[in-house]
Amino acid sequence: MFKKVLIANRGEIAIRVIRCLRELEIESVAVYSDADRDALHVRWANQAVRLPGNTAVETYLQSEKILEAAKRCGAEAIHPGYGFLSEQAGFARRCREEGIAFIGPNPEAIEQMGDKTTARDVMKKAGVPVVPGFQSMDATLAEAKDASAQMGYPVMLKAAAGGGGKGMRMVERAEQFESAFQQARSEAAGAFGDDRVYIEKYLMRPRHIEVQIVSDKHGNHIHLGERECSIQRRHQKVVEEAPSPAVSDDKRAELGAIALMAARAVNYDSVGTVEFLMDQTGACYFLEMNTRLQVEHPVTEWITGLDLVRMQLEIAAGDPLRLDQKDVVIRGHAIECRIYAEDPYHKFRPSPGLITYLGTPTGPGVRDDSGVYQGYEVPIYYDPMISKLSTWGADRNQAIGRMIRALGEYKIGGIAHNIDFHRHLMHHPAFVSADLDTSFIDRYPELTAAAATNGLEHVAVIAASIKHFRERMRQSLATQTSQADTSAWKQSGRLGQGGRSWN
Ligand code: ADP
Repeated sequence: MFKKVLIANRGEIAIRVIRCLRELEIESVAVYSDADRDALHVRWANQAVRLPGNTAVETYLQSEKILEAAKRCGAEAIHPGYGFLSEQAGFARRCREEGIAFIGPNPEAIEQMGDKTTARDVMKKAGVPVVPGFQSMDATLAEAKDASAQMGYPVMLKAAAGGGGKGMRMVERAEQFESAFQQARSEAAGAFGDDRVYIEKYLMRPRHIEVQIVSDKHGNHIHLGERECSIQRRHQKVVEEAPSPAVSDDKRAELGAIALMAARAVNYDSVGTVEFLMDQTGACYFLEMNTRLQVEHPVTEWITGLDLVRMQLEIAAGDPLRLDQKDVVIRGHAIECRIYAEDPYHKFRPSPGLITYLGTPTGPGVRDDSGVYQGYEVPIYYDPMISKLSTWGADRNQAIGRMIRALGEYKIGGIAHNIDFHRHLMHHPAFVSADLDTSFIDRYPELTAAAATNGLEHVAVIAASIKHFRERMRQSLATQTSQADTSAWKQSGRLGQGGRSWN
């Protein structure tokens, strides 16, 4: 196993990797931008290397500077986390050239899956059903329009090099096609430096179901069941759960087998995710493969008891998988809520700034993967996700109950956040009955409008609690000075007649 690993990332995922390295007694090296000088991952790592600048392009995407830092510190491997360099085949190849292990799959697999049209071709050839579409890149506009008409509107335009929900455009009618196509191309060129756009049939109210796979460098492949990520905003996941309430044991076996076909087709050799859309009839179509650790990996860890980061490290070090498919047992249910520094009641506008108070939930079945601390200033430069709260229960209802309890314990002061939004969502009858699809948030506008009054209720409750607390403290101090020999514990017990009474 490696002795020293560099983490080419920031925030909660850098912390997640450092935790695993600590458990394995491996030294960690962080890299950080100027804006991240005071970030938690810098404090937690054994060593930290500055990348001058603030933007991702100036810092976390500087592959040569990162390789240089790894060599200088004597790191034998680089963990790319998710985003940034994690799915850049060129970076994985450079690591290989420099004799540094890339903690992820081989560059050839990243390359094949990184281009969505190549991925669709590879999958079709392997016999995997893909979302129906048209991807002839040298077709004229008229031919592309004809193909869309044949497919039937609405259609989805997608950037071949796309990711992160960017460069995607739904076209409802033929009249809109031409201008949407031009816009999609220039958007794709701007975001990815590649203007190739292809067309998919737009599936109405699909569920997003994805299968976690794990492959080693010895040709062994297993899957760890599915996650459902249908609660999305602008095609980006907000809440994830495992297993999917829409997937039976038979369907799990079927999807797992298809995902492993995908893994074998590209000689996959790390952890990865095969994404599907499930239509209203329950039919599933390949969407894309993510060749990295997913944000939502904790829900799979909860239900399988496995550590996916540890598996990634072991595989990158050349170890064979320790378990067979039959050893994978799914137990209970897990849910994850992404906690964002953004205001869901004002069009989800980002809310960077100083965290003046932070109280994080704990207790049975609760996990908080956080990248922040009280007194930390959330910078404007990066993704506004500050933590991932996940809960486990013996069944879905218990996982939801625990999530509601944990969200109630979660207190963040100084910046706007989406904790109340998640609480409303967890109570929503359609969520409770698992009637999910990717347009859920748009369909229930009350989820993003309800807060105005609730926000004020909250303020009133907090103000009343502070007043109550202060009064109790005053009374307690007055009693203590008159009975100086009585302990504060006994006093507070007496005050509440059998317990502390201020919350
Ligand atoms: P990205 O790589 O940018 O995340 P994906 O291809 O993974 O894009 O799609 C992200 C989300 O966009 C899906 O989960 C789904 O909500 C929506 N989506 C993508 N393709 C389609 C489609 N053909 N029909 C309907 N929704 C789609």
